Amino acid sequence: MTIRARDLIILAGLLLMGAETASSAERANARPPAPQAGNAHPVATDTRVGGDDAQTRFVMDFSQKVDLRAFTLADPYRVVIDLPQVTFNLPPKAGETGRGLVKAFRFGLVMQGGSRIVVDATGPVRVDKAFVLEPADGQPARLVLDLVSIDRTSFMRNLALEAKPRRTPETKPAEAKRSDDGRPLIVIDPGHGGPDTGTIAASGEMEKTIVLDFAQALAEKLERSGKYRVTMTRSDDRFVALGERVRMARAQGAALFVSIHADALASRRETDVRGATVYTVSDTASDDEAARLAEDENKADAIAGVDLSSEPEEVADILIDLTQRETKNFSAHFARAAVGELKRTATLHKHPLKSAGFKVLKAPDVPSVLIELGYVSNRQDLKLMTSDAWRARTADALAQAVNTFFSTRLAGSGPARSGN
Ligand code: ZN
Repeated sequence: MTIRARDLIILAGLLLMGAETASSAERANARPPAPQAGNAHPVATDTRVGGDDAQTRFVMDFSQKVDLRAFTLADPYRVVIDLPQVTFNLPPKAGETGRGLVKAFRFGLVMQGGSRIVVDATGPVRVDKAFVLEPADGQPARLVLDLVSIDRTSFMRNLALEAKPRRTPETKPAEAKRSDDGRPLIVIDPGHGGPDTGTIAASGEMEKTIVLDFAQALAEKLERSGKYRVTMTRSDDRFVALGERVRMARAQGAALFVSIHADALASRRETDVRGATVYTVSDTASDDEAARLAEDENKADAIAGVDLSSEPEEVADILIDLTQRETKNFSAHFARAAVGELKRTATLHKHPLKSAGFKVLKAPDVPSVLIELGYVSNRQDLKLMTSDAWRARTADALAQAVNTFFSTRLAGSGPARSGN
């Protein structure tokens, strides 16, 4: 049987298990992928899914053979495939829908030298086979993942038996802690990245790209003022776990943490909802929309295939609690300054100041706000958010809010951070 014919059969849903050459098969969990040498990363060029609700085969074509490591995660059911760094050059909309046991899948960079595919399964599954075929007979190298449906009890048992997958490696800040020259450090946090796209506009624009472009513009403005040191939690299209973003801000002694996002509303009825909103952290959400948004934003780790059961519990500490109260006041202060400046230049949501339980805002000692620039589900907002003029104008407004925040703060509107 030719390879093309086999692929056609897979596409027809007639899955032939074991038809791949077993000699070149690599078992799931064999070993973590080794970093690929050189700059030219393997390129993923196409993908397809075949099969049914009992057995499903996921295939991705590559320009060359890659190592892989596959493991499953529960709640929601996911299969994570870790690869060396690859360039995903897949058809548009690849992964948005699936077939059989594959509901959908995502892919992207999760660390320097490491990429990931996260497959959402429709239910509990077992990785029957996971291997990569050498290119042969004019066909590209192919990653093959065979999934079979199992019950939840078996799934949970396999999960316990599997060596606990390592946690997503902690991303090193782009630049190690720079010398503290006394200027306040501002950490700009573009949301999402890598396999976690964030919201997606009907026309395809992704939140992860919109917010990275904006964060870069804002970081440049702040840096150019000479008044601040500025770092970003990510400066390219890669995933950074929520807790890691917080850790980066704390480890560097940030004086302000600004997380940048762009929301979306799903229903057609709500496409007229638009404008920027500035969020601070709170235990109880200020309204239902804030609660819904925080829930969505807090899903980022699960979306990118982080094993949440291995995340450390937050330390409860009375001192942290006291610091947090002071930090919350500073956060609210910056949020008000941001709304005040944005009012002049951008469209604001009708209730622009809100709060909810955002994980990324939970540093007890770093004033933190999350800014939703607008709604990618609203055509006017989307047009603005992807325009250079709006980006420059809005970054100017936020830079001005930063100036206001630090000038009033240094003038003694509240206790300053140690060293200020
Ligand atoms: Zn977001």
